[in-house]
Amino acid sequence: MHHGIKKLLLLGAGHAHVHVLSRLAQNRPADLDVTVLTPYPHQTYSGMTPGFVAGHYSEQDCQIPLEPLIKAAGAKWVRARCTGIDTAGRRVRLSPVAQSRSQDEILPPDLPYQFLSIDTGAVIDRQRLEAEMPGAAAHALIVRPIEVFAAHWPRVLEQAQARALSVAVIGAGAGGLELLFAAEQRLRSAGVHGACFTLITGGGEPAANYPAGLQARVLRRLRRLNITVLRDTCVGIDQGVVRLGSGTGLACDIPILAIGTHAPAWLQGSGLALSESGHVQVNQFQQSTSHPDVFAAGDVSARVDQPHPRSGVYAVRAGPPLADNLLATNSGQPLKPHHPPKNTLNLISCGAGHAIASWGPLHAEGGWAWRWKDRIDRGFVAKYRRP
Ligand SMILES: Cc1cc2nc3c(=O)[nH]c(=O)nc-3n(C[C@H](O)[C@H](O)[C@H](O)COP(=O)(O)OP(=O)(O)OC[C@H]3O[C@@H](n4cnc5c(N)ncnc54)[C@H](O)[C@@H]3O)c2cc1C
Repeated sequence: MHHGIKKLLLLGAGHAHVHVLSRLAQNRPADLDVTVLTPYPHQTYSGMTPGFVAGHYSEQDCQIPLEPLIKAAGAKWVRARCTGIDTAGRRVRLSPVAQSRSQDEILPPDLPYQFLSIDTGAVIDRQRLEAEMPGAAAHALIVRPIEVFAAHWPRVLEQAQARALSVAVIGAGAGGLELLFAAEQRLRSAGVHGACFTLITGGGEPAANYPAGLQARVLRRLRRLNITVLRDTCVGIDQGVVRLGSGTGLACDIPILAIGTHAPAWLQGSGLALSESGHVQVNQFQQSTSHPDVFAAGDVSARVDQPHPRSGVYAVRAGPPLADNLLATNSGQPLKPHHPPKNTLNLISCGAGHAIASWGPLHAEGGWAWRWKDRIDRGFVAKYRRP
């Protein structure tokens, strides 16, 4: 390393980091050496994935290609996954991505940093899942990583053409609902007859984290589409059967698992201050409360001063202040606080063409809400696409 050059390591290419890269593309300080560690050549925009399932978008429509963005930022891309952080030695441990390396590429065991920013999102931890729902890791179509889910979806369509399928979505948050509505619409519009759809809520109401009025809208939509709602828990999955907490079993060809996410297990042992749920605790500057040289944003982080839900909207909002604070750290300037909004606009798509909108206690629905979401989502991806 040349004297005076500082090493910034960006872990993951989530919503906030694509913004950091675009800022660096506009103006990267000459004394900043930037590396991006992330496993895929694109960032899949999860907000558009239900539209992909519904057949409205192609897989490419939902992706931000990373190589051109990283190149424009004057950064290096290391195609690998982080498996641990040694904050005392300021190094990040890596593991290779299967089949991604040519023979002459040598992946170092770890990468050094002077300051680090983490935006790797949250995960569905396969070990925890297996303990809570034995068989789920083997038999369910799991929504995370979203790239793996998207790669499997076309096979479901092929099966659906061959015979009537029973599809169950486990998890009744916004993501699970959107995927269920999208899958129903796709199979119906493909002329598939006899498919049946079930929502397994985990015990509560669908969209339990939203106002009662929005829940009522969701229930009406589910009823109209003849989707069965089971207010039950999934306690395990065998081939062809979802086992329920009530003791019964649901015959099911395609169990789609869209339960809440977990913090990545590799954060344990890093020395970083973590929340009770294992997420990186950050302050008003998106800076680790224990390590000033580490920043985090998006679903991997937990704001201690202003806790907020984990969603793409909050991850996107954290991008500009994170970029400001990484650049300020590099130049020794004071950091600026980030104030996440109290309420955000939530748009739950009910298949392509219709969405339910909510903002705080207000809610409404219609084709206009879906067109609004379509415009926002396409706009986000277009903003970070480079020729
Ligand atoms: C079907 C679905 C629909 C959704 N729709 C919406 C919506 O409409 N609006 C909304 O606000 N939220 C939505 N969400 C939630 C949203 O997806 C997440 O809140 C959002 O993706 C979090 O963004 P992030 O930047 O933290 O992480 P992510 O978007 O998950 O990005 C993480 C990045 O880190 C990389 N990475 C992962 N692990 C590692 C590792 N070990 N090492 C290095 N890199 C790694 C990934 O490849 C990726 O590039 C939806 C979720 C789902 C499942």
